[in-house]
Amino acid sequence: MIPTQHDLDPCPAGCGAAVLWTTTEHGRPMAIDPTPDERGNQAVYRDGPGRWRSRSLDGADARPPDPWESTYRPHVATCTNHQPPLPGIGGRRRTRHAPPRRVWR
Ligand SMILES: [Zn+2]
Repeated sequence: MIPTQHDLDPCPAGCGAAVLWTTTEHGRPMAIDPTPDERGNQAVYRDGPGRWRSRSLDGADARPPDPWESTYRPHVATCTNHQPPLPGIGGRRRTRHAPPRRVWR
């Protein structure tokens, strides 16, 4: 299953990519690259209420992807902006999705 643009959000690290937020089997949020990738280690599917779910294929007891699941890569594996930008240090501070900066003085 392929997410639509409507399902995507900007990368939280600000690299400019769109990501798909999924919920892991442990209930944690995980950002996934929105294009299926054979090299991925996450099986992604959409559950009944329409939530995107992911589960890791890395575990020794992980079963192979089911027919209704697609394989995706976690966005952290491809993100070009691993570090959150630090205030006061040059570089890529401005992103399209950055909130307005407040100056407390
Ligand atoms: Zn990113």
